[in-house]
Amino acid sequence: MTTAKEPTFRESVDLMFNRAVSLMDLPPGLEEKIRVCNATYTVRFGVRLRGQIHTFTGYRSVHSEHMEPVKGGIRYAMGVNQDEVEALAALMTYKCALVEAPFGGSKGGLRIDPREWDEHELERITRRFTHELVKRDLIHPSQNVPAPDMGTGEREMAWIADQYKRMHTTDINARACVTGKPINAGGIQGRTEATGRGVQYALQEFFRHPEDVKAARLDGKLDGKRVIVQGLGNVGYHAAKFLSEEDGCKIIAVIERDGALIDENGFDIEALRNWISKHGGVDGYPRGKYVRDGAKVLEHDCDILIPAALEGVINLSNAARIKAPLVIEAANGPVTAGADEILREKGCVIIPDMYANAGGVTVSYFEWVKNLSHIRFGRMGRRQEESRHQLIVDELERLSADQNLGWTLTPGFKQQYLKGAGELELVRSGLDDTMRAAYQSMREVWHAREDVTDLRTAAYLVSIDKVAASYRAAGL
Ligand code: NAD
Repeated sequence: MTTAKEPTFRESVDLMFNRAVSLMDLPPGLEEKIRVCNATYTVRFGVRLRGQIHTFTGYRSVHSEHMEPVKGGIRYAMGVNQDEVEALAALMTYKCALVEAPFGGSKGGLRIDPREWDEHELERITRRFTHELVKRDLIHPSQNVPAPDMGTGEREMAWIADQYKRMHTTDINARACVTGKPINAGGIQGRTEATGRGVQYALQEFFRHPEDVKAARLDGKLDGKRVIVQGLGNVGYHAAKFLSEEDGCKIIAVIERDGALIDENGFDIEALRNWISKHGGVDGYPRGKYVRDGAKVLEHDCDILIPAALEGVINLSNAARIKAPLVIEAANGPVTAGADEILREKGCVIIPDMYANAGGVTVSYFEWVKNLSHIRFGRMGRRQEESRHQLIVDELERLSADQNLGWTLTPGFKQQYLKGAGELELVRSGLDDTMRAAYQSMREVWHAREDVTDLRTAAYLVSIDKVAASYRAAGL
């Protein structure tokens, strides 16, 4: 997919990091300390399945422990390797700092194609992998807290939590050892949708700043914008669904493993997702034009391009042909360092991964806090909030009746105003606030400094500054 000159994912992240630190004035040696990955653990373990022992290779990398626990997803894919896991762990450090989630960066991966194994087999493999990581405190509520990533979801997180619990029967905080769990296993409302929801909030915030919209050679609001999405998995599906159903965007193309579909009228994402779940791909879908070479569709004309599948998909071989004026990196590392340069020169605005997909870790942070506090968000305050609102509504209605004013509150208003915030509303509110605040911290640097010409460099500057401040506070 990439050409020989292309740096590896890890090198790409380091190149982008180096570009940013060259604009900073860090004490000697601190730059190196922040950049390097502290440790990567490789494990090979065997599981007896289908009458023979199968050996699997897994990784857990810890990039920076300036704050603990460290945090980052566990990925199940055949392409998993040390370079990739380390690059992703580094991104987690910068991401957590940018959105002020109090964690260091980590990432894990298992080299496996989850589609090749049955559910009970995957459970045994996951439990065994978990056992290996828990033994070394690489899964631990106060040291290292994984989450879902490509190829994993709620189900795997529930197995991990249960395995940890079996190995730490008296740990009252055991559930906080992993996030992204199902609700009935200690999860939080809104976690599954969180990364896609965060992509939506990021775009909403971007379009609140006409100056930034203009920098991307666009105008107006999100409504009516033509969007291409690559990968209709957890992140891509939720982002596409919310943008089309709530913000008036048109999803004019969807790129999946087996090809792409194009329809200028926009796709019904729910219907398409159901088709993919049933048929395993987009081929044969009764609407839109099918293109077998899906990656080519990244180069199609659109307003917003959302790569939400793999890293390195926009690289030296296709960057010059990318037409989208705005790219939002829902996946981690979809644009290589070389492609980033080409796109910037073309005037394309890139909303960088460390910000764009930070919704997942943000809501993971809320879940971890929920697990440690052992109480659902909203449980104490919701009814109290509702009764105070009821007081106002009753008083307004009494005044209207007493004074013959003839006021009537519309039923829609009353219903909305009287409803106190439950966990989902609070999670969405906290996520929206985080995405707005982090965007503003990036754009401030982007616009205030002449030597910063893009959002990625701005994002690195904001986050490295925070990581450096933690190290300084720790006396390093
Ligand atoms: P997922 O496994 O749920 O979905 C990935 C999707 O991409 C699948 O639909 C898959 O079929 C598709 N895909 C795979 N190869 C493809 C190809 N060559 N071309 C087009 N489509 C392809 O994974 P996810 O959790 O949605 O993660 C996607 C990206 O988002 C990854 O880079 C991940 O690191 C990042 N991310 C995920 C989360 C999260 O909460 N899940 C959080 C932050 C970042």
